[in-house]
Amino acid sequence: MKTIRQEIIELIEDNPMTAKDISQSLGLEEKQVTEHLEHIRQSVKKQGKKLVITPPKCLSCGFVFSKRDKLTPPGRCPECRSSHIQDPEFAIK
Ligand SMILES: [Zn+2]
Repeated sequence: MKTIRQEIIELIEDNPMTAKDISQSLGLEEKQVTEHLEHIRQSVKKQGKKLVITPPKCLSCGFVFSKRDKLTPPGRCPECRSSHIQDPEFAIK
C-alpha cells in the first residue's frame, strides 16, 4: 500500500498543483497537505529531486512573492494590500 506522501509525490511529479488541488484529489485537508509537503521537501532531496515552488502572485498588482520560502499562501500583498492572491504551486522535479 502506498503512503499518502508517495501519492502526493506521484501526483505532483512534473505536474504543478496548489495545496488546494492536492487536497481535493486525495481527500485531505489543505493543512495536512502542507504538512506532508514539508516532509516531502526534505525526503525528495535524498533522491536527488527537488520540491519546486511556483511563488504566489498578487492578482491585483502582479507582485510576485519570489523570496517567500513558506509553503502556505500569504494573506496579503505587501505592495497593494490586496488579499486576492494566487496560491503557490508545488511540483517535484
Ligand atoms: Zn498587490
